Amino acid sequence: MPWLSWDRRALGAGTADGQCSILNQAVSKDPSQLVQLDTDASAAGRKPLFGLDAEQLKALMAGLGEPAWRGRQLAQAMYHQRVADVEAITTLAKPLRHRLAEGWDVGRPRIAQVFRSVDGTERYLVECGGGLTVETVWMPEGDGGEAGDGSDSGANSPEKAWSRATICVSSQVGCAVNCQFCLTAKLGLQRNLTAGEIAGQVVSVLDRQGVEVGRDRVNLVFMGMGEPFLNYSSFMGAVRLLVSEVGLSPQRMTVSTSGIVPGIERFAEEPAEMRPKLAISLNAPNDEVREQIMPINRKWNIEAVMDAVRQVKLRPRERVTFEYVLLGGVTDQQEHARQVAGLARRTGLPVKVNLIAWNPGPGIPYEMPAAGAVEAFRATLAGEGIATYVRRPRGRDIFAACGQLKRTVEG
Ligand code: SF4
Repeated sequence: MPWLSWDRRALGAGTADGQCSILNQAVSKDPSQLVQLDTDASAAGRKPLFGLDAEQLKALMAGLGEPAWRGRQLAQAMYHQRVADVEAITTLAKPLRHRLAEGWDVGRPRIAQVFRSVDGTERYLVECGGGLTVETVWMPEGDGGEAGDGSDSGANSPEKAWSRATICVSSQVGCAVNCQFCLTAKLGLQRNLTAGEIAGQVVSVLDRQGVEVGRDRVNLVFMGMGEPFLNYSSFMGAVRLLVSEVGLSPQRMTVSTSGIVPGIERFAEEPAEMRPKLAISLNAPNDEVREQIMPINRKWNIEAVMDAVRQVKLRPRERVTFEYVLLGGVTDQQEHARQVAGLARRTGLPVKVNLIAWNPGPGIPYEMPAAGAVEAFRATLAGEGIATYVRRPRGRDIFAACGQLKRTVEG
């Protein structure tokens, strides 16, 4: 899925006080929504440790003449304690920290700016290498596409203002898929993120929010900027880090694809203990409409995508999600709902449908669905026996809702 887009180069240089003037104008007229952060540059020229798994860290330590278990200490510090500076890893002796810091930096992607919505949603500009920035969104109590029916809701924690939350994660800077309704597509693909940059978005947000892994209910959705299955190795590398090193459950992760068949086939080979749930960004009731709004459908049509999805061995009670953006007059008609129901039945898969009302964006030639169209669509699908949920928009006032984020670029 689309949605998160932003790139420092696209915006030009920030102002002297470290803020981006275009961003401030375009995103938020209310300065109270922009949370100021320290913007010290990270260590230049040093290689990032963040992104290396425990085995790679052990090998690194062995190369420095240290016992391998020092690598495990390093992993613990970066991924569990979320230490972001080599010199602050106090489980390592000072001389070793100094030696390590000569060539290495933790190098975790850093949250450079925060926009906070009245509904509690936070949108982050996260700095990756090369001066590029991607966006990550924190949605407390938010349904970013996981269960969609409230079944993930947990008990309230007395210390926290939220009982569950969803983090929406980017996998590429820009995107090459060119879905016609998507603002991210306008950037084109600028570069793939590394596994460390993808996982680092998550760890930085966990750190900021004080999430206790294993206790707090946090879902991840890989539905931000980019097509995860066109950056497959890094995406799955990030998942492995988040599962094995950070301790998150793959069953609380959902990856959304526009329908990259070779990627889905590869995904089907992943072991269940390492595989997120799958969402297909369907968005159309048939090939004819889908080709118009998602040119990727000319390469892999709906049937080819569904054939690939059937290869994924679902866990007990697991369902495949169809994400469906309602475009006014294009994909939101009753007839379309009936076609989607027929399609869902024909797949033979346990599916649920998440409906998203399209948010308007500059230069995108579509309309919002008419009032009542989303509920009517939901009711028709539900009446046909298809589990259907409406994703409520989050963070509209900070342009964090689906489809809104590239407003920051357009100004
Ligand atoms: S796959 Fe399509 S919807 Fe998702 S980010 Fe790329 S262009 Fe946007």
